[in-house]
Amino acid sequence: MIKNTDEMNKKENKKKIRKFNKPDALIVGAGPVGCVLAERLSNVNNLTCLIIDQRDHLAGNCFDKRNEKNLLYHRYGPHYLRFKKKFIFNYLSQFTKWIKGNYVVKSIVDGKKYPFPINITTLEKFFKKKFKSKNELISFLNQKKINIKNPKNSEELILSKLGREIYESFYKNYTIKQWGLHPKNLSKHVAGRVPIRFNRNNLYVNEKIQVMPKDGYTAMFQKMITNENIKLKLNTSFESIKKKIKPNILTIYTGCPDSYFDYKYGKLDWRSLRFSFRTYKKKFKQSCVQYNYPNEHKYTRSVEIKHVTKQISNYTIISKEYPTSSGQPYYPINNKRNNQIFSKYSKLIKREEKRNVFFEGRLASYKYLNTDQVVEKALKLHKKIQEKILTKYENK
Ligand SMILES: Cc1cc2nc3c(=O)[nH]c(=O)nc-3n(C[C@H](O)[C@H](O)[C@H](O)COP(=O)(O)OP(=O)(O)OC[C@H]3O[C@@H](n4cnc5c(N)ncnc54)[C@H](O)[C@@H]3O)c2cc1C
Repeated sequence: MIKNTDEMNKKENKKKIRKFNKPDALIVGAGPVGCVLAERLSNVNNLTCLIIDQRDHLAGNCFDKRNEKNLLYHRYGPHYLRFKKKFIFNYLSQFTKWIKGNYVVKSIVDGKKYPFPINITTLEKFFKKKFKSKNELISFLNQKKINIKNPKNSEELILSKLGREIYESFYKNYTIKQWGLHPKNLSKHVAGRVPIRFNRNNLYVNEKIQVMPKDGYTAMFQKMITNENIKLKLNTSFESIKKKIKPNILTIYTGCPDSYFDYKYGKLDWRSLRFSFRTYKKKFKQSCVQYNYPNEHKYTRSVEIKHVTKQISNYTIISKEYPTSSGQPYYPINNKRNNQIFSKYSKLIKREEKRNVFFEGRLASYKYLNTDQVVEKALKLHKKIQEKILTKYENK
């Protein structure tokens, strides 16, 4: 009896190995995009999916883990999940319960804590003045603003909206640290991403749905890929298997385009971060999840993620972020040179689609995208793949 079971297990294993040596879909990257596509292609289309990732974990940059005190922390910077569209929230709700996200950030200027993004309270505290109405604030700012009709870069944008004092205290040095570039040399869209508010809303982001996965991101993505037709292979780079594993139908590629094409048109630049983590025997160390340090220290922000994971513990973790120009690719540097290189790769990416290789995600599209946005893009790509190629296979 035991022997039979052993033999059956061996047979099963062999079948599995065969199945994943030639999967229907090869998915490069176990980040949000890779997991969503594996879930859709296996659950909706019954395809076998092999996901590979060069790192030793799934969830991509959303990866979170527990430390020796059982405290959950975000390994690649705080991930403040929020949704512009309800259907993306509904889709992810299949894989997790939620807790409310209350993302509050303060900027430390001359030792004082100011609400950030800039709102009425920030301006009142900074200028030591009470504004009785929005109109009073606007006419006050009109005197501070610098008249620049068509701001061309991040410096001009903030000067034209808030004037020099706020620009110098809150934006200038933070931007230089974060990007290694003067705001003059940075697209206005970078500074434009941060809202400026003429109200007292002190939340970091504007979206109505702000939630965190109750047991963390990694648990959520793990639950997404439980179909037995999905296999996850970690510590495996695309480069190491591309000649050996040829999928039956398609490839999803969520890595950097330049490395896929052997840097044919040159290397795309990325801004990176080094994180330092420290555990303290203390319930809380900060009054909110994030302090920005525009002018002091080599790090840009210090994060106490416990404010949003809402864990109850006598310990807490503080992470500090040191921007660097080398390291893992986190933020695309969308300057003229890089955009030109990327547009050349884009043409090759279109050509690859004809061979059923699809590029998607933050790295592959060389674009700053939040998690809800990449999930939406992955769902859209799944629809496109269904319509363009899977119907052919289903009709065979
Ligand atoms: C510092 C930081 C803070 C962020 N904060 C937020 C936030 O507050 N809110 C929010 O919504 N989003 C945030 N994001 C964005 C979020 O992380 C991304 O939108 C999301 O992770 C993108 O998913 P993805 O699948 O496209 O890529 P990734 O998460 O980058 O996953 C891609 C995976 O592919 C793997 N890979 C790449 N190349 C190869 C290869 N050649 N072979 C094998 N594997 C490969 C990588 O190892 C990686 O695991 C933040 C990102 C960063 C970097």
